[in-house]
Amino acid sequence: QSFAKNTFNQLKNKAEKAIHRGLDQHIKLAVTGLSGSGKTAFITALVKHLTSQADEKNLPFFDVIREKRHIATKIVPQQALTIPTFEYNKALNSLLPQEGEPHWPASTERINTLRLAIKYQSNAGLRGHFAPQSTLYVDIIDYPGEWLLDLPMLEQSFQTWCQQQYTLLTQTPRLHKAQLFLEALSNLDLNASVNESQLADIATQYQQLLKGLKKETKLAMLQPGRMLMPGELDGAPLLQFFPVAEVPDEIVVGSNLAHLKKRYDAYVKEVVKPFYAQHFRHFDRQIVLVDVLSALNEGTETLYEQSRVINQLLNHFNYGEAGFLKRLFKPKIDKLLFAANKSDHISAKHHKDLALLLDSVVHEQSNHLKFDGVQIETMAMSSITATQPRQIIEKGVMLDCIYGKPLGENEWLTYLPPQPPARLINKDEWPSKGFAFLSFSPLPSPDKRLNHIRLDHVMQYLLGDKLT
Ligand code: GDP
Repeated sequence: QSFAKNTFNQLKNKAEKAIHRGLDQHIKLAVTGLSGSGKTAFITALVKHLTSQADEKNLPFFDVIREKRHIATKIVPQQALTIPTFEYNKALNSLLPQEGEPHWPASTERINTLRLAIKYQSNAGLRGHFAPQSTLYVDIIDYPGEWLLDLPMLEQSFQTWCQQQYTLLTQTPRLHKAQLFLEALSNLDLNASVNESQLADIATQYQQLLKGLKKETKLAMLQPGRMLMPGELDGAPLLQFFPVAEVPDEIVVGSNLAHLKKRYDAYVKEVVKPFYAQHFRHFDRQIVLVDVLSALNEGTETLYEQSRVINQLLNHFNYGEAGFLKRLFKPKIDKLLFAANKSDHISAKHHKDLALLLDSVVHEQSNHLKFDGVQIETMAMSSITATQPRQIIEKGVMLDCIYGKPLGENEWLTYLPPQPPARLINKDEWPSKGFAFLSFSPLPSPDKRLNHIRLDHVMQYLLGDKLT
């Protein structure tokens, strides 16, 4: 009898294991945003909250936690062996050091990955009955948003790319900064036999121009993206091209122009396309972090360009039968989230304005677009809050201020941040003094916990349906 019982138990165990395996799910969650938008901070916070702060008080809007079904989340070895590992411990040590002041971790410069195993109690009918525990494996893939912005190049010839980029360079706010490059370009004889060193010099100048524009204006439409975030391609001849004023239909063989076109084509074929074919195509969910407050600091042109770029991207996410991405790669992304990050830089009562503003940035032109198979959402959040709310009474009026240590300063400050507009505003509506949102150092945390704003909403949107 005991033999029969043992066998039965063994069989039952086996069956349960088999069911487990069958029910374990995988999801690839891609995290992007332009440099400085907060990808590293976001991933560090996501992992920290799931692995060691996964309680109801901390993540009340994440169903699996609120319903007490979360068992444990662990970092497990990644499967993709060719992608560098996201340096979670290093990032966490910067934010929660054993000794000394906390500081922000180093930003994303290339693609990174990390795998989480979320063990949870499933609550759905059959599953709940047979398999009390399931595991969701989440591959987090972190990549520079600059690479995503190269996406439209897949559809453009060198000729159309030049038309678009060169025109931008001859308009404000770029024109003023582009003088040196345009001058160097005017000295280049496009039809002469190729002069490699002159092309390399002008390409360097173009790269400096892009880097300068990025740093000083935070403009978003800067291509090629790898000139800003080269990853392993730093210094590769493939990156040595730039837009010219006009590309004729007939190009002189062996000329400078022929060479530029060749490099553009090679860049698209050997850099842009493989990224989409090897990585992007396999993503299930995508969060795009948007630093709306920095764009507001820069002014209308930057904010509007951010909006144009997002809308151009959205066009590419339109998966309708004729959709460009669909024809090319059959991508799988079914949920796309735009998150206005760093909302701890403003008072809590203005978080809603920030969310509305991002919504109007994202939907500026795309309201009419039909998105087959991809759900799009916008939210305002903060992965790691670096300020505390403070209420101050001034002349009998209660002011909702924030308290923190501005980045690079030694003094703590209580300050009243400006209110962001709740929609895209035009030049005439723009406040005459512009906006000046401050950045802050991370807060010291004696109990080694991180704080967030609405990260649980983000988790619920991106992962909730996979954890039922
Ligand atoms: P990445 O380039 O996208 O990886 O951006 P990081 O994650 O390195 O973030 C860039 C900078 O933005 C950080 O050094 C912080 O100063 C700031 N930052 C990022 N996330 C937050 C946040 O949630 N709150 C605040 N206050 N600042 C943030």
